Amino acid sequence: MLNPEDLGKLAQALEMTHEEELGCDECFEELDRFVEMKLAGLDAEAAMPLVQDHLDKCGDCREEYEALLRALRASEGYLSVNLIWTRLRRLFGAN
Ligand SMILES: [Zn+2]
Repeated sequence: MLNPEDLGKLAQALEMTHEEELGCDECFEELDRFVEMKLAGLDAEAAMPLVQDHLDKCGDCREEYEALLRALRASEGYLSVNLIWTRLRRLFGAN
């Protein structure tokens, strides 16, 4: 059985874990910046490890990330990230 002290530690541990992980909404908000860095040849994983971490775990966000990356690469820089992002958001029905 857990005593109250152990429960306290457990709650603390869960809170800490939670602080180090992004939810889908947070990931979604950071994703355009993440992809921009990628396309610029910067080390996006190192700069935004929480986004990378979430993408590794979450298939839905990973799909959105790959779709965004593909769309941006296909555009060859003629379209801005924001324009494509707006289109993607509409496509996925977000907000
Ligand atoms: Zn997600």
